[in-house]
Amino acid sequence: MSQVVTRFAPSPTGRLHVGNIRTALHNWLLAKQAGGRFLLRIDDTDAARSREEHVESIRADLAWLGLHPDGEERQSARFAIYEEAFERLAAQGRVYRAYETAQELELKRKVLLGRGLPPIYDRSALALTEADHAAKAAAGEMPHWRFKLDHDTPITWDDGIRGPQHFDPRQMSDPVVRRADGSWLYMLPSAIDDVAMGVTDVLRGEDHVSNTATQVQMFAALGAQPPRFAHEALLTGAEGKLSKRLGSLGVADLREAGIEPEALVALLARLGTADPVDATLDADQLAASFDLSRFGRAPARFDEAELQRVNAAIVHRLPFERVSPLLPEGMGEAAWEAIRPNLAHVAEAAEWWSVVQGPIAAPAQDAETATFLQHAAQVAAALDWQAAPWAALTAALKDATGRKGKALFLPLRQALTGMDHGPDMNALLPLIAQDEAVRRLSSN
Ligand code: GLU
Repeated sequence: MSQVVTRFAPSPTGRLHVGNIRTALHNWLLAKQAGGRFLLRIDDTDAARSREEHVESIRADLAWLGLHPDGEERQSARFAIYEEAFERLAAQGRVYRAYETAQELELKRKVLLGRGLPPIYDRSALALTEADHAAKAAAGEMPHWRFKLDHDTPITWDDGIRGPQHFDPRQMSDPVVRRADGSWLYMLPSAIDDVAMGVTDVLRGEDHVSNTATQVQMFAALGAQPPRFAHEALLTGAEGKLSKRLGSLGVADLREAGIEPEALVALLARLGTADPVDATLDADQLAASFDLSRFGRAPARFDEAELQRVNAAIVHRLPFERVSPLLPEGMGEAAWEAIRPNLAHVAEAAEWWSVVQGPIAAPAQDAETATFLQHAAQVAAALDWQAAPWAALTAALKDATGRKGKALFLPLRQALTGMDHGPDMNALLPLIAQDEAVRRLSSN
């Protein structure tokens, strides 16, 4: 069997949002899992709507997510290839010229619908003779081009998610593939590219199912085997429909909200399955367990609260090397490891680092507790700070004062950090300089 090749084919008309990030990720996982190749194909045939800044942001977003393509192609560099394939289809009579305006087509649709018939293009342009075409050309009328579906060959494919699919080409309009100005619609160049680039698996949203039905015949007309197809259910928000905000939620917004790429990858890798999210940093592990047959046909719910939970689980695992550029100056590995279990977002590390460094504002204590803390300061001053000072401090104070549990730990934590909760003091206290800790304990 040939090597698996997948592609992510965004049109650079905007930034990537959660939905197309998921499509990119799933294509990447599918390729990784099979030891295959993942291509980035920039669908920029529409020069008016495509922007270079979007191409760059798509590349940057994929890089941030760690989805490095094994190759990049641009449709705008491939017009000669489309032209050549188009000539062949024209020679075979698989594309034909038509002249109906949008208004004329709309009228035909209305008439058919009014009669209770499906609004299928009536192919009247097929009846035009060469003399008719010459007359149109002489009158300055330029044709657009339709792909002629083969009415005698039923369209079928076994969809990787939706199962066996059947379409009757007689119930479909011949799709327009090229506009009167010579520009391309998405469908034919995409099929030509999938053949030329050896794409074996096309995984995309279910909004493309009807495109696939016509493209299956395009592959055949191009003399090629169609790739395997799989169409994923679209995303919805927690409340049903994908909200406008969610629909446009992009990498920049997620970054700003403190979401780590590993969290987005872990969540989106499972979104659409009933399987639990695996909050792993290891994308190869996600690839190994990626399984299209686990995806259902029901819309997949994207829940921002769940993303936040996965993010926290990921942050708790991030190694120091990965986050060090994001941490405050001077914050080292021991500090990161002490603090990370308390974080929902990496940026909160700065708050705990300022607790370590001080100054802090500790709550006022009653007279008895203040005396206890003065005692604690004396014990702390005499400790070996290199040897588990929190355990030594609390053991000595427990023996000397009889305090235990909350009465022992809470005033110490409050005096040392200014907070009631926080990182494990065993890990946190050694980060606070000894003389600073003594000062905090005695400043009551
Ligand atoms: N450029 C198309 C889109 O963004 C590609 C669809 C596809 O073939 O995957 O919808």
